[in-house]
Amino acid sequence: MGESLSIFWDQSLYFPSLMSWQEKMMIGRILTLLAVSTVIAAANAATISECRELLRTGKYQECLDETAAAIERRSYGEDWPVLRAEAETRLGRYLQAQETINAGIGRYSWSIRLRMAAIRNSKLLGNSKRVETLLDEINQLATSAPWRYTDADDLVALGEAAIEMGADPKDVLEGFFDRARRNYESRADGHLAAGKLAIEKGDLALAASILRPAIEKFPENADMCFALATAVQTAEPEVAAQLLQRSLEINPNFVPTMQRLAERQIDAEDYETAEDTIADILTINPRSPEAHALNAVIHHLHSRHDKEAESRSRALSVSTANPQVDHLIGTRLSRKYRFREGAAYQRMALEADALYLPAKIQLAQDLLRLGEVEEGWQLADAAQKQDKYDVSLFNLMQLRGSLRKFETRRTEHFVIRMERSESAVYGQQVESLLEEAFAALSAKYGYTPADPVVVEIFHRQDDFAVRTFGLPDVAGFLGVCFGNLITANSPASMRDNPNNWRSVLWHEFCHVITLQMTGNKIPRWLSEGISVYEERIRDQRWGQHMDPGSRKRVLEGNITPVSQLSSAFLNAKSGEDLNFAYYESSMVVEYIVHEHGAEAITLILGDLNAGLTINDALDRRTQGLKELDAQFLDWFRARAEAWAKDVEFVIVREEGAPPPDLIQIAQQNPNHYAAGLAWAAELIRQDFVKEAEEKLLQLIELHPEDSSTGGARRLLAELYKQLERPQKQASVLRDHLQRSSSDLSAAMELLELQTAFEQWPQALQTGDIVLSIDPLQPRPLRQILQATQQLNAPDETQEILNSLLELDPSDGARIHFQLAEILEEKDPQAARRHTLLSLERAPRFRAAHALLLKLTASDTGESPKDEPADSQ
Ligand SMILES: [Zn+2]
Repeated sequence: MGESLSIFWDQSLYFPSLMSWQEKMMIGRILTLLAVSTVIAAANAATISECRELLRTGKYQECLDETAAAIERRSYGEDWPVLRAEAETRLGRYLQAQETINAGIGRYSWSIRLRMAAIRNSKLLGNSKRVETLLDEINQLATSAPWRYTDADDLVALGEAAIEMGADPKDVLEGFFDRARRNYESRADGHLAAGKLAIEKGDLALAASILRPAIEKFPENADMCFALATAVQTAEPEVAAQLLQRSLEINPNFVPTMQRLAERQIDAEDYETAEDTIADILTINPRSPEAHALNAVIHHLHSRHDKEAESRSRALSVSTANPQVDHLIGTRLSRKYRFREGAAYQRMALEADALYLPAKIQLAQDLLRLGEVEEGWQLADAAQKQDKYDVSLFNLMQLRGSLRKFETRRTEHFVIRMERSESAVYGQQVESLLEEAFAALSAKYGYTPADPVVVEIFHRQDDFAVRTFGLPDVAGFLGVCFGNLITANSPASMRDNPNNWRSVLWHEFCHVITLQMTGNKIPRWLSEGISVYEERIRDQRWGQHMDPGSRKRVLEGNITPVSQLSSAFLNAKSGEDLNFAYYESSMVVEYIVHEHGAEAITLILGDLNAGLTINDALDRRTQGLKELDAQFLDWFRARAEAWAKDVEFVIVREEGAPPPDLIQIAQQNPNHYAAGLAWAAELIRQDFVKEAEEKLLQLIELHPEDSSTGGARRLLAELYKQLERPQKQASVLRDHLQRSSSDLSAAMELLELQTAFEQWPQALQTGDIVLSIDPLQPRPLRQILQATQQLNAPDETQEILNSLLELDPSDGARIHFQLAEILEEKDPQAARRHTLLSLERAPRFRAAHALLLKLTASDTGESPKDEPADSQ
């Protein structure tokens, strides 16, 4: 097809400037026919635009009746069969649509739009031979009479045909869709086709830039709303939700939106509502392959395998050769972390159609997430050869480039991939943390995960996002677990928002246990709840804790019952909502452990693995679901009431009123923490330092739990710093860091002070906090080095020196020398190598010369000449 394509291409882009007399004749004939048919048309018959309107507003049956009547009357125009077939398709009458189209082509033999409709219909019916024939026909028609196909509808149909033939999407965009947009501004077709093409190729930004201005012009177009919603889903979820809502207002029978909603409901584990939505789709289109496929997904998730097979065969009843059915089922299962089963479905889709690209891409992603890297990359490679323009594949290949430069570290249970220099700096720390998590959590849950567990730590956020979500520009995630694979952002990529990477890996590893223990049949809330809970168990500063915001929510009763917690994750409207969903879930776990012991959690995980639903498992393993709902609520409320009891945080501000006078509030109410802080800050500003100190000490006593970076302890430390009272400053910071494990600047400040005071053991402890937030900064590393040297800890010293060598090679002469000193006894050969590397950087380094002499004197055989190459 390649050759004929290029001919078709060139010619259809340029119009012949002259028409032959035969061509003029033909137009004349069409015009005559048109005039005749207008005269014949019955007075009250619907017009084409009225029928289009019926279709647009979801009155498919009426549209079908009117167009059928018009065709019966022999009304002229390809629009009639096009509209009729579209109405029939939306009602699931695919074979009737086929008849309509065939009859249409019989009458309008030149019609490209009808042939494109025939192609869509043949694909649904699994008739790939017919698709080939139709494409050939379109090619011939367009080549022999390009002047005929220049209106918006035809340009769009031609562009779609060109895509089917494998044309360059950029050329199609410019040659057809853009032309349709420019030349027919009053028609939505060109905009929509261009936007959809960009979405299909994964270029959502381009799609949004095309569709956003278009929707201003065509606000009443449900297809347009849906396409734009798809394009902005990740970047602007709220706008997307509004657009989806709008599409249903325009057309209450708009199946693509209903399908999207059902998919969301399944994601949210709201299966009952999803089944209702699917039933609604089936009343519109009883044969909808997508609706039956989604039913199969729900049955699968409930381990109802007979019904799953039944729904799948219904979905395939239109055509067993339709790869979209298995692709859809598999993709939805992968969304639920059922990558193994998802991959199996993609393989079935590829059996139906070996060239079906979406299945290839999804299978590649599934395999990469299952850790079956080799086959995954092979498939991605093959897919990219098939489609050079797919943005998600392009991103995937970029990622592969980055991953190839990564270093792989292997431990007993893990394969860890990280950027080479990061690996040199803190790879060792990652290894020990993960092995510790493996030992502790496997023992606790009585479950040993399959090894090796793969952990990838990305220093570029985009690589992380593509690896994790398949697309770049997704921010806000620290790490993700896929069952046997953990992806995480490295501290280098999190500098704007420092976090404790150890707590992140602990959390993610805990997911490995809970996902594998349940065969991925665990609802998200429970998996997150256990992970956050286990963070707190490992280190009480990790994980989430009560804060003024969550206390307020609990006391106001603004919390989700345990039995509905799944919905809290999907219905979260803000980051705050989502955070609270994590926190509440972890508190449910804490409550169950508190009431029924840790075994209860293990038993629930076992039940899930056996195929029980979460609510059945909870009902069995606790005091009963209803009681659990009620008693957790009471317990949580009691916790909230006890937390920071009598402390006030909320500042009431009436609408339209001027901002409240915080100082006045603080003076009237000594228990108002937020106002108290504002007052203390004002006192400092006015130099009333004694009063400020008193107020801050009172606030700390009032609310000792505060671990925030803007709390009383941080402010007091700042005050002591200004007053040059370093001992007091250090003491307050130490208290603060007992409660916070992610305040990097506080930890660095304290480390600085402890180094100055030569408090080496304390400095080492503080240094450990710094390393768990950002191990990649040379200055704190040098301070920790001083501490390890003073405390005579050679192993730790060696580790820090190695890190420093990586981060600050300019100081290489000294660092190599120090390494040589440490290794002098333990490994003289390595010591000599480091001495030589030191001298290479500083040839007059006397101490190094002396050490080299000493090492050479005690040398037992090898001469200093056969040195290994510089490892730098
Ligand atoms: Zn998590």
